[in-house]
Amino acid sequence: MSQVEQLKLSGQLPSPRGVALAVLELSRRENATLGEIARVVQTDPALSGRLIKLANTASHIARPVVSVQEAVVRQGIATVRHLALGFSLVDQYRDGACEAFDYKRYWSHSLLMALSMQALGARVHVAAADEMFVCGLLAQVGQLALATAYPDEYNLVLMAEHADPAQALIAHERARLETDHIEMGIVMMSDWGMPKVFTGPLSHYEDPDHPNFPHDSRANSLMLMLRLSHRLADLGLANADVRPRLLKEWMALAVELDIPQDAAGRFIDEVIDNWREWGELLKIPATVLPSFAEICHGHNEAEDDADDTDMPLRIVVANGNAINRRNTMALLAEDSEHTVYPAENGNTALALAMEVLPHVIIAHYDLPLLDGLELCQALRATDEGRRMHILMTADEQGEEQLTRAYEAGADGYLPSTLSAKGLHTRLRAAQRLVQLQTAWEKDRAQLRQIAAELAVANRRLANAALTDLLTGLPNRRSAMDQLQQAWSAASRSGLPLAVMVVDIDHFKHINDTYGHAAGDMVLREAAATLRTSARREDSVCRIGGEEFLVICPNTDLKSAMQSAERLRANLSAKRIVIGQTEQTLTVSIGVATRESGTPDMDALVSIADQALYAAKEAGRNRACTRQQSLFP
Ligand code: GH3
Ligand code: MG
Ligand code: MG
Repeated sequence: MSQVEQLKLSGQLPSPRGVALAVLELSRRENATLGEIARVVQTDPALSGRLIKLANTASHIARPVVSVQEAVVRQGIATVRHLALGFSLVDQYRDGACEAFDYKRYWSHSLLMALSMQALGARVHVAAADEMFVCGLLAQVGQLALATAYPDEYNLVLMAEHADPAQALIAHERARLETDHIEMGIVMMSDWGMPKVFTGPLSHYEDPDHPNFPHDSRANSLMLMLRLSHRLADLGLANADVRPRLLKEWMALAVELDIPQDAAGRFIDEVIDNWREWGELLKIPATVLPSFAEICHGHNEAEDDADDTDMPLRIVVANGNAINRRNTMALLAEDSEHTVYPAENGNTALALAMEVLPHVIIAHYDLPLLDGLELCQALRATDEGRRMHILMTADEQGEEQLTRAYEAGADGYLPSTLSAKGLHTRLRAAQRLVQLQTAWEKDRAQLRQIAAELAVANRRLANAALTDLLTGLPNRRSAMDQLQQAWSAASRSGLPLAVMVVDIDHFKHINDTYGHAAGDMVLREAAATLRTSARREDSVCRIGGEEFLVICPNTDLKSAMQSAERLRANLSAKRIVIGQTEQTLTVSIGVATRESGTPDMDALVSIADQALYAAKEAGRNRACTRQQSLFP
């Protein structure tokens, strides 16, 4: 059996859940009607909104679509099925276990491909634009599949690719996994019912030298469109310095699809706009790109931060002598495009400084009202003032005066009769400092952001470490922590404590008959029923495959047995829809209470386990304790 077949059977590949799964299954039925599909879609508001939005994005439609029914009618069953599938995968696989795989980037890239395919689909009519959207969205789903099925191995693949980018990703994948994302993606998409007309070009578009579709065929157009969309997605996520090159390559390819140069700009800008809009809707990050024209002209954001020591400064010139003041301002005007604010005394200088927050202050030692030293000290006492570069000018150049100026916080000391050269040198130094400071503040802002993101990630991790992903219930580790606490509390208070071990009967049969995905769905429903049937004070945890532990503080054996019976009865009354069949589910429950002779919590669980075993032996679908068994 091939690698891919094995993976398919093992249920490790990404697969849709919930409403998307229901839509997928419903639409496989031959007699499924649009009405039925619309009704299922309607149960998921997010999906409904996205379908309606997409139906309205196709620009040729004059009257806007406002209902799910209309959207479904416009898009057709096959498209709705694939859209539901695509959106469901986006929601489910925002994160995962493969560390080197950037899930967010993956979806950003896929979304941009999808929107480009959709826009191309509206220009070159080879397939419905919405179906093109899905084709782009899932074009690289094989990568997600490999990262999901083999998180650790794929990590190594990605690291190898990083170390040796000259080799194609596919080669790295083959070397370690004996399959690659293209093969994987094709198998999955064929499974999901994606027509051959798409899967053919999808197998080859990443290989730039692949020639063999006839020139004017639909397959060839699709392959070119995929290539073009792939390049655009690369462009969207690329660093500013490589964008102009990628854009040139894109333009060269676009000619093959008869997209003229003058239309290309509008096309790209529109797709990028849609990307941002859809990114918000799907909560996928989209970069803010400069416009096409700016990329074309090699506009490079990196240049904006380039080391440019000729930057204009805001400068306050504080001097009581009008002639000296004007001289200084004249010198500054020659230096660069600085903005200069004159002040004739220390008080004005201080007020002005606080108002315009200058980069540099050139203050005279003997200012009226507030002298130079006092001005310096007053400024240095404020946060804003501490960042300013203060140059003090003085008529005298005595050692003592100089020391006092520096002690008051001046950064430099100059003669009153400034030379153009001396001033210029001082200002260059000030500019460098301002730049350092700006860079430093930017770093600090970034650090603050990283710290905030880390805090969120940590919280999420801490949460994930204690939560079972499938059911959302506390996991085994969390269960044992909680039991430990409940045990200690019971020891202190002397109040009773009960536990139940709940195990689904013949669960393997469900997996074997309907597949692992259906098994997962049943587990989720069973977990939800257990949670809603248990008392609020009780904690319901998933401690194994189809095994749950219910911790019941302050509960004696009689109440515990009543609770267990309620859980059992509620579960067996539930009808679970799997595909087109309805199933019932039963559980066996082992109950134990903390007695004076129970040595510790492990023993308590083990007694409940024995009771569970007894319940299974006695015919299942019942709750037992070591003392008694409760028949349905
Ligand atoms: P019994 O009545 O004796 O408990 O029979 P059983 O079939 O429920 O018990 P068994 O322990 O033989 O099988 C449990 C099955 O649960 C086997 C395993 O494949 C399945 N299972 C465990 N974890 C998961 C899961 O996360 N998802 C799915 N779909 N199946 C799971
Ligand atoms: Mg079982
Ligand atoms: Mg079991």
